[in-house]
Formats: sequence, C-alpha cells, structure tokens
Amino acid sequence: MTRPTLATIDLAALRHNYSLAQHLAPESQAMAVIKANAYGHGIVEVANALAGQASGFAVAFLEEALILREAGITQPILLLEGCFSEQELQLASKNDCAVVVANEQQFKDLLNCKLAKPLSLWFKLDTGMHRLGVSAECVEPWFQALVACDNVADEVVLMSHFACADEPKHPKNTQQLVNFQQTFAGLKPIAKAHHKRLSKSLSNSAAIFALPDSHGDWNRPGYMLYGGVPLVQPDEQTVALKPVMTLRSSIIGLRDLAIGETVGYGAHWQATKPTSLATVAIGYADGYPRVIKPGTPVLIAGQRLPIVGNVSMDMITVDVSDLPSIKLGDEVVLWGQGLPLDEVAAYANTIGYELTARMPARVPRHYID
Ligand SMILES: *Cc1c(COP(=O)(O)O)cnc(C)c1O
Repeated sequence: MTRPTLATIDLAALRHNYSLAQHLAPESQAMAVIKANAYGHGIVEVANALAGQASGFAVAFLEEALILREAGITQPILLLEGCFSEQELQLASKNDCAVVVANEQQFKDLLNCKLAKPLSLWFKLDTGMHRLGVSAECVEPWFQALVACDNVADEVVLMSHFACADEPKHPKNTQQLVNFQQTFAGLKPIAKAHHKRLSKSLSNSAAIFALPDSHGDWNRPGYMLYGGVPLVQPDEQTVALKPVMTLRSSIIGLRDLAIGETVGYGAHWQATKPTSLATVAIGYADGYPRVIKPGTPVLIAGQRLPIVGNVSMDMITVDVSDLPSIKLGDEVVLWGQGLPLDEVAAYANTIGYELTARMPARVPRHYID
C-alpha cells in the first residue's frame, strides 16, 4: 500500500510509559491493560514489546486472551469482564487466564463447574461506580463460597474500579477507597482460613498518578501506557508521558479559493478571504471523527493549521493560507508527536481512548523501536 496514511507506533515510548507506571508505584506490580487491540495500537505487537517488562496483561474477554496465547505470550493474563459461560471457564483454565467474578452467573459458573486446573480469581467489588462488581450484600457469602471452592487457586485478588480517578479531588474517590479497604479487612481473615492469599487491585492510570493510597499489589495501567494523559488536569508528573501513536497522512490536493467559495459536502464552510486550501488523505473511515469541530488543528511543517469544511470518508480539507511554502505530498500530523491526542479528542467532544480504540484496520500500523 502506498497511500500515505499511517499510524506510527513508538514501542520505545510504550516501554518508557510502562516504566513510569512502575516508578510511580514502586511497591505494586503493573498489569498492562491491552484490551481492544491495545487501545487500537495492536495487541500482539504491544504485548511483545512489553513482554520483557510487564508482570501481566489484562484484556476484556477470552478471545483477546487467546490471541495473546497463540502469539506465544506466557505472562499471566486477566479477563477484566470475566467469563460468559462454563465452557469459557474451561478454556480460561486451560490457557492460564485469571478471571474476574463480578455477577451472579459468573459466581455460580465458577462454583459449579469442574475444572482440571484451578483458576486465579479476581473478585470484583462494586465500591461505588455501579457499573460492574458484586454488590455489598453478596460480597461476604459469595467470597466465603469461592475461597472454599477447589476451582479457585491460592492467590485471590480483591479488585474494584474508580469512577472519577481522573478528577483526583472528587469525593467519590475517597468513598470508594474507604469502602474497598474496609471490605478487604473483613475478607482477609476468611481468605486466610482457607489458606488463600488475598491481595488488592484498584488503580487505573489516573489513580496511579494521582491517588497513591489506592496503589495495590497489582495496578492496572491502560491509557497512560499509550502516552495519553489520564487526568482532567495534567500535572508535573504527566509531562513525563511520551505519545506512542502518531497518525500521519499527506497533502493530495492544493487550490486557491476566492471570497465566497465553499468547500466540501454541504458547502458549509465559505471563504471570507482569499484562501489556500489543502486536501489531506484521511477521513472518518480512517478513524478521524466526522463530528470534530471546524478549526481543529493539524500539524504541517511544525505549524498548527485549522480544518475547514466537513470531514469526508477519506479526506479532510485544511486552510493552509499561513503556509505559502506548502506543496503536494507534504506530511500532515493528525495527532501524536507535537499534537497531543487528548487535545484533538477534546475537539471531537470525546477522549483519546475512543480515537485510538476506534481506529480501523484500514490504517496501517508501522512499528518503530
Ligand atoms: C480498561 C480498564 C483499566 C485501564 O484503565 P485506564 O484508564 O486506561 O488506565 C483498568 N481497570 C479496568 C477494570 C478496566 O476496565
């Protein structure tokens, strides 16, 4: 393929960001979260790049884990959404995957199935996010039953997830943390009575940066590994993050518009002054969001220039009047090096997670070290 549209994935930056997660929480192990094709960066390439460093990997569900096992990844793998049937539990056990138990079906399946090999259990509490996790009244009876069950291996992890860790001062964070610590204190003797070791896992990327009291035996960094800033307010620590994906394309059209002329579908944008326009080979079918605001910057020759007109399936148009030296084939950066993903995402009213996770296979990933 020679269309110039390309996502460059900097694996050295990825490893740097993983090291930063370890450095910020030196007492914890970091399970690299690589669900959803490693947030669009390529699950196998990312896992291989981190294989020498990472204590384990977390994915959303079994199919994602099997891709990793097939690629020869031998580290512990955690299924964050757990299993959806007894048959999946069997496969998880065969493939050495740890499973989350977060609902009644998962609880019953794990209790009732007959596994050849016990599974590592991550028992997920709902401490206040109210999305996934065992509710308070079921915690003790379910935990009692599971630690007494032969299907459960000796290491059990108590986990939960923050709703508002990206806003470190949000009162919900303390409420969730207190709830978690109290539940842990209550469950620990039960685990011990069954000769199980109970450990903790609570922190996502934002909590690794901003909620050190939440650091557990296992942290779960995702977004920060890819260089995204996981806090609403970046701070002096987040500047150490390095962007991993840089999305680039190039100029495939140049023209001058007179006052009153329009560009693109719907003719929504109209020149109010004589304008030089560049057409760039990237569109919403490449994961560049159609809803993005006019005026969103792209980077050409180190200069920020605004998008004008609607985003098309394969193309966008940019006002390059301020860059008279521009020519066909010049490189354009859409996000990444020099143009933070988080900033571009804000122009599309979303978060960087969504932009990279939704990037389709159509955009080739090019890996550099
Ligand atoms: C996706 C996910 C993470 C990673 O969150 P980031 O904000 O990307 O660090 C951690 N824990 C759970 C349960 C998740 O689903």
